[in-house]
Amino acid sequence: MKNSIESIINHISESNYFIVTSHVSPDGDNVGSTTSMYYFLKGLGKEVYYVLDDTIPLNLKFLLEDLDILRSDEVNLENYTLISLDCGDKGRICVSDKIKENCSKLICIDHHASNDSYGDLNYIDIKASSTCELVYNLLTQFNKKHSVSCIDSKIATCLYTGLVTDTGNFSYSNTHASSFEMAKELLVLGAQKDDIIQRIFQSNTFNYYKLLGDALNTLEIKDNKVAIICITKEMLKNNYISFNDVDGITSYTRDIQGVEVGILIKEKNENEVKVSLRSKNYVDVSQIAKEFGGGGHIRAAGCTVYDSVENTKKRVLEAVSKSI
Ligand code: 5GP
Ligand code: MN
Ligand code: MN
Repeated sequence: MKNSIESIINHISESNYFIVTSHVSPDGDNVGSTTSMYYFLKGLGKEVYYVLDDTIPLNLKFLLEDLDILRSDEVNLENYTLISLDCGDKGRICVSDKIKENCSKLICIDHHASNDSYGDLNYIDIKASSTCELVYNLLTQFNKKHSVSCIDSKIATCLYTGLVTDTGNFSYSNTHASSFEMAKELLVLGAQKDDIIQRIFQSNTFNYYKLLGDALNTLEIKDNKVAIICITKEMLKNNYISFNDVDGITSYTRDIQGVEVGILIKEKNENEVKVSLRSKNYVDVSQIAKEFGGGGHIRAAGCTVYDSVENTKKRVLEAVSKSI
């Protein structure tokens, strides 16, 4: 079933127990959409749990100061609704299979092109800048229906974070007039714009720059159109950086003059490699990611490959060269 925003609002009004979650390797839209949904449900007096079996990037932790992140094995709940936000694929929902299987209702709110509407209730719009834009639409509709004003300054800050991170600070092609309208409304509602920008874009650690130096030393350009950077586990370890704290580096590959596809290869474990793909104008990288069991958006996608860094690099470059 597709786009039942009204049924989602009705279901939320009628239910009491919720778990909110998102995808593995959390990003700004993931954290912004889950925290805003969490604080909204709390505000309605619901019993709600924030569950995520992964580590939050350092620069996003400020959104979670007022809540406890639980691991799947810490939750024992019955008759609950699981709300999956910003997760294009049921397999990537970052909770245990038990939590996924035992929920009485699965709600999916998302903007990934590769989403197959896996929820019982779905609100999916692939044109939306971010999942935060969809949560904003939902809360705005909720306000109208119940003549209330449920977006306080804290919720506005969470939503603004997802909007700026998924649009690359209003620069990517997914930035539309509606994104600016939403930004304006959120600022009126008290979103802490300057604090967000400082925490997200201006708080990199010295170690991050050391790692960035090592990463840029691996930069290669193929056929003047494809750029690739590789980050090994050893590089992360040597610079005391966590796996989830280096996602921004993918942009360096795409932002080179003439490059159409940028690739970041990041070693998680031996023979387990995360691949991030970005394109500038015409290559649909979600299709390339799909070939490796992943997915995403046309201009930003990813996958996990169970192979060595060198083999993954070779295989991904081969796949990309066919789309150029
Ligand atoms: P990133 O490269 O920043 O991890 O991800 C880029 C986009 O692709 C994000 O929207 C992310 O959710 C999606 N994505 C990344 N990895 C995967 C994956 O393994 N499977 C799917 N379905 N989507 C992914
Ligand atoms: Mn995301
Ligand atoms: Mn997103």
